[in-house]
Amino acid sequence: VTKAESTRRGRAVVLEKFGEPLALREFEVPRAVNGATVVACKYGGICGTDLHLHQGHLPIPIPLVLGHEGLGIVHDLDSEAPRDANGAPLAVGDVVMWASSIACGQCVPCRLHREPTLCENRRTYGVNRSTVEEPALSGAWAEYIYLHSGTTIVKLPPGIDHLAAMSLACAGPTMVHALYERRPVRLGETVVVQGSGPVGLAAAALAQMSGAAHVILVGGPAKRLELAAKASIADTRLNIIDAADPDEVVSEVLALTDGRGADLVIECTGVPSSLAQGMAMARRGGSYLIIGQYSDAGDTELNPHQIVRRQLDVVGSWAFHGAHVVEYVRLLPALLARFDLQSLVTAYALDEFEAALEMVAQGNVMKAVLACAGGRP
Ligand SMILES: [Zn+2]
Ligand SMILES: [Zn+2]
Repeated sequence: VTKAESTRRGRAVVLEKFGEPLALREFEVPRAVNGATVVACKYGGICGTDLHLHQGHLPIPIPLVLGHEGLGIVHDLDSEAPRDANGAPLAVGDVVMWASSIACGQCVPCRLHREPTLCENRRTYGVNRSTVEEPALSGAWAEYIYLHSGTTIVKLPPGIDHLAAMSLACAGPTMVHALYERRPVRLGETVVVQGSGPVGLAAAALAQMSGAAHVILVGGPAKRLELAAKASIADTRLNIIDAADPDEVVSEVLALTDGRGADLVIECTGVPSSLAQGMAMARRGGSYLIIGQYSDAGDTELNPHQIVRRQLDVVGSWAFHGAHVVEYVRLLPALLARFDLQSLVTAYALDEFEAALEMVAQGNVMKAVLACAGGRP
């Protein structure tokens, strides 16, 4: 260990008090021990969930380095013959992504229900690893992150644009989980996606990749739908945000589907009132896959007769685990061959985190990432 290495420090964006300005702090970069990996973060993604964490909408320990999605360069490894999640050799200098959560493998959902996403003791970088614990660098909005043994780490395939890989860093694995484990898109189906944020765009893009005959994106405002069009996402895009009457958009979907409705409707808005609309756009015997209600936004009025009369399969999907991140990374070459995902991303320097969060809060950017510039000498 050189002198420089032993005194290396890394900057990080820290949530110290709910609803108050975040702080840029410096922490010592520890050596990787006990099978850990230290990664120099290149990008840390900003997700809608981060806004909720900042405001204290979820019970989390603080102070906390934020950032549960990231991409970076392996800086230090503590392992005899290190391998990534696919079994490929892992070395200092490799470009990797990692899963934010580690399931415990011991609780009832992990062991008996075989549902690691529902783990009762999930440890998540950027969400429930406080700086009070050692090491403090446990989030991706930082120059370095300390990834404990047991973290799912996956090397990026060669030739993949790093910014493009960040476009759906959280939304992509979320949708992979929903479509692989909960309700797959079947060949030739008509799919309606409600919501044109990153999760909605991931849903539409993966539905297209899965062989849907017609993917209809119902979202807005116009600027977001234009971005989706530019990236070749969805076959038809309908603006429900700027519509005088949302029911007209529902009628438009029915007109596009022979008056019957879609085989599958995927909810990615996070707005409770969108559920009644979503059900109205599903055909009898169809499915309604609900993903967007990750934060508790309250109750909504529903007519349960619509579920029975339509014989609707209503399926919820919660988060994702390591295997879904690996699958997202495996899909990246195919995704990038078909969709211009890089055009969805806006990058800000690490110390511009306030401006970046403001842009996300106002909905002015599709996907914001912090360029962390970790690994500088
Ligand atoms: Zn997220
Ligand atoms: Zn568990």
